[in-house]
Amino acid sequence: MQSKNRDMPTIFVGLITCRRLERFHQKLITTTRTASCNCGQLRAEVTGEPVRFSVCHCDECQRRTGSVFAVQARFPREAVHLKGEGTEFVRTNDEGAKCRFTFCSTCGSTVFYVEERREEHIAIPVGGFADPTFPSPTVSVYEESSHPWVAMPAEMVRRLQA
Ligand SMILES: [Zn+2]
Ligand SMILES: [Zn+2]
Repeated sequence: MQSKNRDMPTIFVGLITCRRLERFHQKLITTTRTASCNCGQLRAEVTGEPVRFSVCHCDECQRRTGSVFAVQARFPREAVHLKGEGTEFVRTNDEGAKCRFTFCSTCGSTVFYVEERREEHIAIPVGGFADPTFPSPTVSVYEESSHPWVAMPAEMVRRLQA
């Protein structure tokens, strides 16, 4: 009986330590990635995984990127840390919402953008990470403008428009 009582505080302290370690470990394993422009002065550091990750084939995204489709990951605003100087280009999308694209005025790369009515998220063009280990996109939109040779993975959610 005596020895059992003496063991109790030890077990309790053990549990607290374990939870603290768990939280510390969680911090360590949270992924941090940095997207940057070509010259490197404009950067977006993101923590954690994207909440939405899509491919867009629309004409505007083709013109913005110079590629035939755009790939962007949306992160909660609080998960994004921005550095450097950017210039904003604003355009209105098909849903009538203003999209604010921020690009580097030295090299021209768009590093992030924010859509009206979705201000809680920051979208990052995924090429900015230049990281082939980045997870795969899950949604493909505006496929009506897709170039015929472009093939999206079968498991993606695909839409003709937004
Ligand atoms: Zn730049
Ligand atoms: Zn688009």
